[in-house]
Formats: sequence, C-alpha cells, structure tokens
Amino acid sequence: MSDASSQPKYPFELTDADWRARLPPEAYRIMRQHGTEPPFCSRFDEGGPNGLYLCRGCETPLFSSFDKFDSGTGWPSFYQAVDPRVVGTTEDRSHGMLRTEVHCAVCGSHLGHVFPDGPQPTGLRYCINSACLTFLAFDDREAIAAYVAAWFEKQKYLPVE
Ligand SMILES: [Zn+2]
Repeated sequence: MSDASSQPKYPFELTDADWRARLPPEAYRIMRQHGTEPPFCSRFDEGGPNGLYLCRGCETPLFSSFDKFDSGTGWPSFYQAVDPRVVGTTEDRSHGMLRTEVHCAVCGSHLGHVFPDGPQPTGLRYCINSACLTFLAFDDREAIAAYVAAWFEKQKYLPVE
C-alpha cells in the first residue's frame, strides 16, 4: 500500500500490475475488469469429476461440485457457495439491467452473478465464469468439508459479516 492511511478493502490485494502477471489474460479481463466469458466455453465439463472450485486469484475455496447443476445457460452454475463467507455481492446496474454481482470475499475478484431462479434448497443460481476458477478433485462431500474447514482454520483475514 502506498498510502498507509488507506484501509485495504479485501484481505488479499495486489497491484494491477501484479494481477496482470498472476492471471491469464482472459481471467484478468473477467476477474479484474468485470468481464464475461462466452457461454458454452466452460473449462469444466458438465458431469465432470467431483471436487472443489477455488478462486483463480487467491485459491479461496468457493464452490463444490456437489452444489453444481446444469442450468442450460452455458456457464458453470451452483445453488450455493461452500460457505456464505467466501463470496460477496454488490448491486450491478450495468447493461440496463439490475443484477447481483458476485465476487470473491478474500481478493475481491469478480466471479459472475447470482439470480433468484435456481433449484432448491436455496432457490439461487450462482452463474460463474469458468475462467475465474481452478479445480481440485475430491471423492466425496466429507473430504471437501474437511478441506474447507482446514482452510478456515488457517485463514486469518477473512472479512467478517
Ligand atoms: Zn479470490
């Protein structure tokens, strides 16, 4: 931080130059410039292996394959995050629409949008750009829950709601 008096907004922050160096160009465009990838270009096949989707910017665990569903939209879709603390939302009035933007709560990177037309039990549809995610394979829900719990143990800087 060049200005010692400014409070960082997110626990994990980088300069724009460092974000450019860290992320592939497509991921940088989406995550740091609020872009969107074309539909049906997902890096992850529907019905692929089970596991955990991490933020490509900071490796925070975000979504589980067990909460993923085929929305038919052409973007990876989830009905919930692995933990409500790992994602944040803001009102997005761009493109003449009112939408709810979704970002990583740890590094602030844009991930996609959330819509109120998902399946039960939440009724939500997190529509996420695949370029924002990396994948870690796990066999079952218990292994994912254990990984997420261990991650929270060592994560000291998570924003508190
Ligand atoms: Zn992140």
